[in-house]
Amino acid sequence: MKNLLSDKESGKPIKVKVGNIIVGGDEKIIISGPCAVESYEDLLSIAKELKKLGVHMLRGGAYKPRTSPYSFQGLEDEGLKIMNEVGKIVDMPLVSEIMDTRDVEKALNYIDVIQIGSRNMYNYSLLKEVGKTNAPILLKRGMSATLEEWIYAAEYIMAEGNLNVILCERGIRTFETYTRNTLDLNSVAVIKQKFRLPVLVDPSHGTGLSELVSPMALTAICAGADGLEIESHICPEKAISDARQTISIKELSKIIEDVNKFTTYF
Ligand code: PEP
Ligand code: MN
Repeated sequence: MKNLLSDKESGKPIKVKVGNIIVGGDEKIIISGPCAVESYEDLLSIAKELKKLGVHMLRGGAYKPRTSPYSFQGLEDEGLKIMNEVGKIVDMPLVSEIMDTRDVEKALNYIDVIQIGSRNMYNYSLLKEVGKTNAPILLKRGMSATLEEWIYAAEYIMAEGNLNVILCERGIRTFETYTRNTLDLNSVAVIKQKFRLPVLVDPSHGTGLSELVSPMALTAICAGADGLEIESHICPEKAISDARQTISIKELSKIIEDVNKFTTYF
C-alpha cells in the first residue's frame, strides 16, 4: 500500500469537522441512537436524553440493510425527515446510513454524516458518489474485509476529492460464533500508527451483546479510537432491530463517564 492519500506519510492527520464537532481531535466523539428510526416520538425522547449526556451526534437508520428482505427495512425517506426534525429540536448533528447512489444528494438535505454500512463497503459506485460530495462520510469496515481492502475503500472516496472520511471498526466474521462479530481492535492501533484518518469503534455490532458493549467500548478507547458509535434506546428490549445489542440510556451514561475518566488518564 504505497502513495495513498490516507497514509500518514502523505500529510497531517485528518480531522473531520461536523458542525462545531471535530472528529480526530482531542475529544473522544460519541455517536449514539437507535439502530433504526422507529417513530418521531421515540426518536425525540431518545435524542433528548442523549443530548443531556453530552452525546455529540445522533444516529438512526432510515434505510436498513437487513439480512432478510422480510424484516423491517426502515422508514426510508420518512425516517430521514424524522431525523431532521428531531435534530433541529435537540441541536445535534445527524448520522444515517445511505445504501443507494440515488439517495446521496437528497439525504444531505436532511442529515450531516453519511454512513456507509459494512455491507456496502465494497459498493464502489456508492463510494465514488459520496466522494463527489464534501460531506463527512462514516465508512464502516466490511464484515469480511481485510484492513487493506477497507483502506482502499476509503481511498475510493478520497480519490474523488472528499477527504472527510471517518473510519469505523465494527467487527469482522471469524470462526467465533458466541459474539455476533469479532471486534478487531488491532485495526484501530494500526490505523492510528500508519494512517491519517480518524477511526471510531462500534462495540454494538462488534459484539452483538449489550453486556459486552461497555467493556469493549472502553478497550477501544485504550487502543486509540477517536470515539464510539453505540446503539441505544429508551427501552432497549422494545427496539425493532438489534434489540439484543442495544443499551439503555443509563448504561450509556456510565460508558461516557468512564470514557471521560480514561481521556484524562491518557
Ligand atoms: C448500523 O450501524 O446501523 C449497521 C447496520 O451497522 P453495520 O453496517 O456495521 O452492520
Ligand atoms: Mn444495528
